[in-house]
Amino acid sequence: MAKKKTTTKRTPQVEDLNLNHIVSTQFDAAARHLKLPDGLLQQIKVCNNVYQMQFPVKFGSKYEIFQAWRAEHSHHRKPLKGGIRYSLQVDQDEIMALAALMTYKCAIVNVPFGGSKGGVQVRSRNYSPEQLEKITRRYTAELIKKQFIGPGVNVPAPDYGTGEREMAWISDTYDAFHPGDLDNMACVTGKPITQGGIRGRSEATGRGVVYALRELFRNPKELKKVGLDGSLEGKRIAVQGFGNVGYHAARILHDEDKAKIVAVGEWDGTVYSPRGIDVNALQRHRKKTGSIKKFPGTKTLANAGDSLEVECDVLIPAALENQINQKNMKKIRCRVVAEAANGPTTPLAEKHLTDKGILVMPDIFMNAGGVTVSYFEWTKNISHMRYGRLEKRLDHAKRSSLVEAIEGLVDSRFVAEKRENLVRGTDEADLVNSGLEETMITAFQEIVEARNKQRSIKDLRTAAYVCALNKVAMSYLELGVFP
Ligand code: NAD
Repeated sequence: MAKKKTTTKRTPQVEDLNLNHIVSTQFDAAARHLKLPDGLLQQIKVCNNVYQMQFPVKFGSKYEIFQAWRAEHSHHRKPLKGGIRYSLQVDQDEIMALAALMTYKCAIVNVPFGGSKGGVQVRSRNYSPEQLEKITRRYTAELIKKQFIGPGVNVPAPDYGTGEREMAWISDTYDAFHPGDLDNMACVTGKPITQGGIRGRSEATGRGVVYALRELFRNPKELKKVGLDGSLEGKRIAVQGFGNVGYHAARILHDEDKAKIVAVGEWDGTVYSPRGIDVNALQRHRKKTGSIKKFPGTKTLANAGDSLEVECDVLIPAALENQINQKNMKKIRCRVVAEAANGPTTPLAEKHLTDKGILVMPDIFMNAGGVTVSYFEWTKNISHMRYGRLEKRLDHAKRSSLVEAIEGLVDSRFVAEKRENLVRGTDEADLVNSGLEETMITAFQEIVEARNKQRSIKDLRTAAYVCALNKVAMSYLELGVFP
């Protein structure tokens, strides 16, 4: 009798979506290319402190208990820096991973801070502004109690689910607990301009993404590898997440670079138009209707994830981690993934994309514009002086005399608008954007150089980690921690 064929079912490999494990894997991949003592690498890798807290907040006659964290990854530079996330998904591992990413990010863009991150397990849209204010002030009080906040120790900023409003509450609460301290405003960045913020901070992360992309598009060799050429003008862009980072990146690409935004995804759906979407009008539509869905002139696709799968040149995930993963990686149809969010691509998906010739521009570089401008805000706060205040008039006078000299030589005058642009003195926004642009360009060049220098390094993420780890290691050595 013929033997029955037995088929052994192979269980498909299930990916590990724990962000802390993913960051650790990325770290190890880079560490292999470095000649640094094991002990030093271990010290850089581990998260130094984690403060886990639970606090009650009273709404009406009822109490609700919230879980929250603040992780301090590395103290090689002080203060520590990192955003505060409000999301139901927040847990200790996520916050520790995000704190580690902050350490590497700051090193890449030469911002002299250690990495930190905070989070409250809460979905903002389920609470009124008054309730969110109570939660934020209570969370801040907890941070103050344990010295996990302060201009010289740990300086939070906005992240997913938080913005200027929350930063203003944090600043005000800190100030109330430290009456008379001169530098209180520097306890948090991303504040409204009226409360010590800096021009350009709210759009900084999105603008940094654009500056990084512009630098890529100025680099024909890199572009050719992924089958692209020319400038960003007319390039098809898809964006997932129309919040602070996604909106500003899309708006600047649309307004300044004349790129074509073909898809925008939000938690409740995606709008799509191969002819391009007017991002400013879409924002007005969302403010009016409460959703991006059914925006005139676009097709509404049912799922948030659909924005990741449209055909485009550049895909910008700007929502949360693990969005491009084992399940959808084969459906990604772009040439470049510009990681505006933290951890949007899983290692398995990254390998698949890279094998297909798609360039993944890593989060620790791409979204570092936020912390760069936060650094400018912090220095503005501790110096108590607005950027541009000293030089704007002088700049104006010098430019005016130059323009007058040119007009005298050619015996003609510039048209009024052109003249105004030529003579205008440099103000805070100009200085911030210029500093941000320079930072993103330099970091891109350093990362590409690190990859090109070592043939064993194949991807930009490993190269970015190599740059970061070298710099953090150098700081530890300078501190004499590892003589
Ligand atoms: P945000 O809260 O302002 O915006 C996020 C947007 O994503 C929201 O509009 C939300 O509705 C949307 N969203 C949620 N789930 C989604 C889904 N499944 N599909 C599509 N959209 C979805 O947050 P943000 O500040 O823009 O942060 C976005 C990402 O950028 C996060 O990963 C954050 O860590 C990272 N980041 C932010 C900053 C900053 O300065 N804000 C700096 C560096 C990195």
